[in-house]
Amino acid sequence: MPHMQFLEESLIELITQTSTNLPPDVREALGIAIVGETPDTQSAQALSIIASNIDMAAQDEGPICQDTGMPTFVVHTPVGVNQIALKKSIHAAVAEATKRGKLRPNSVDSLTGKNSGNNLGEETPVIHFEQWEREEIEVKLILKGGGCENKNAQYSLPCELDHLGRAGRDLEGVRKCILHAVWQAQGQGCAPGAVGVCIGSDRAHGYDLAKNQLFRTIQDVNPVPELARLESGIMEEANRIGIGAMGFGGKVSLVGCKIAAANRLPASFFVSVAYDCWAYRRLGVHLDAASGAITRWLYRDPARPVQRMAEGEGLPLTGREVVLRTPLTEDQVRGLKVGDVVLVNGEMFTGRDAVHAHLVKHPLPEGIDLHGAVLYHCGPVMLKQGDSWSVKAAGPTTSSREEPYQADIIRKFGLRAVIGKGGMGSKTLAALEECGAVYLNAIGGAAQYYARSIEQVLGVSLLEFGIPEAMWRLRVNNFIAIVTMDAHGNSLHADVEKETGARLGALQSRHALQAAEKTPN
Ligand code: SF4
Repeated sequence: MPHMQFLEESLIELITQTSTNLPPDVREALGIAIVGETPDTQSAQALSIIASNIDMAAQDEGPICQDTGMPTFVVHTPVGVNQIALKKSIHAAVAEATKRGKLRPNSVDSLTGKNSGNNLGEETPVIHFEQWEREEIEVKLILKGGGCENKNAQYSLPCELDHLGRAGRDLEGVRKCILHAVWQAQGQGCAPGAVGVCIGSDRAHGYDLAKNQLFRTIQDVNPVPELARLESGIMEEANRIGIGAMGFGGKVSLVGCKIAAANRLPASFFVSVAYDCWAYRRLGVHLDAASGAITRWLYRDPARPVQRMAEGEGLPLTGREVVLRTPLTEDQVRGLKVGDVVLVNGEMFTGRDAVHAHLVKHPLPEGIDLHGAVLYHCGPVMLKQGDSWSVKAAGPTTSSREEPYQADIIRKFGLRAVIGKGGMGSKTLAALEECGAVYLNAIGGAAQYYARSIEQVLGVSLLEFGIPEAMWRLRVNNFIAIVTMDAHGNSLHADVEKETGARLGALQSRHALQAAEKTPN
């Protein structure tokens, strides 16, 4: 096999573009969502920030979202191409892209908890090889983050589903599973999302095939008529549930639904759903098999240059925003209510899973005081330049993971605000009310938008947990977020979950009635 001198650079370019520049079909779908959302709602505000973030990421070649996911490559090679050498080049490209800040160090040893720092490790990255009878190499890449990955769902039919009743072993049962999967994701998977679905297969391969559907373009029509009908039916129904962007309640919950059917064992009937967020990052290239040079980009049309997503520069401020400066007082915080838009100024600390698990058992690191402080659920992408750190991407992570710890930490250290995405549960809500604190929802995935709100990295503690899990001390300027859980026992997340559940139930009753009317006596 000839030495492919351009291979590694081509792969680095593929990773960089996938992480930083959303493909045209996803942009188009999000553009339709933006136009379709009710103006001046929280969902519309979230979409406006998302649009700006997409532009900023492409302009600066920064990660669209700080969670660059589990890099998953699907590679087709002509007969005779050395797949071992290709795998080595993919590994080298992943490590280099991480070093350049295009991927967050995201690979953690499951036994020791140690972050490898370069996105390499046991079974990381994921690479699927296939041979084909063409002359070029095709490499497709999807970067799907943990927030949406955690909202994947697999159903074994028949089963009982909240608000939808019994799902049987037929397409009607499959329909119910997919709607349920969209509903249960709420805002935690950074809606509006897209789902790849596999009907059948076994548990393990079903998930693979579901994820593989996310490589189809959003506008692609399924060649199997029943599946094409199911895909468009799901799009129509899911967008009547009312989850909205970030689960704030709104018109657009889903931007894509792609379904495959695979044979199954007679005893099993699985429906596997891969939920992807709005930061639906997948691209592909064709490579010259002799040189490794890129000969063609997939998903892109050279005749259609990248268009800006946002109309203006980010979210236009209305003057009604509440300006907060840390440390926050109890009075200030108790004066906030669900729906208020706030601009946070001053110092802020980051903390994710490792920090929360640590703080419930240990004192704060030396020199840190959290009285009146704001804790940001965020695992940023940081690069060290000399002795100082710079922020490359810094959007919120899913807060529900911290639910087992958050109430204790609020009580123990006197926090006044927690920022994250997707909301938290009843234990945290009770602690907010008792102690006088609020939960602020930042816009999930808006990593570039928020990175620009961070003026300075003031320090870092617990760096031994790895860059994303460390406790970063930041100075922020006008960091925008929405109060979604207040100190008076109100939670927008609980309300939206209840309302969307009721709508799902009503949708199902109507659907069953229509089906009964169509059935001949
Ligand atoms: S946009 Fe949200 S769900 Fe998607 S990768 Fe980023 S944080 Fe995770």
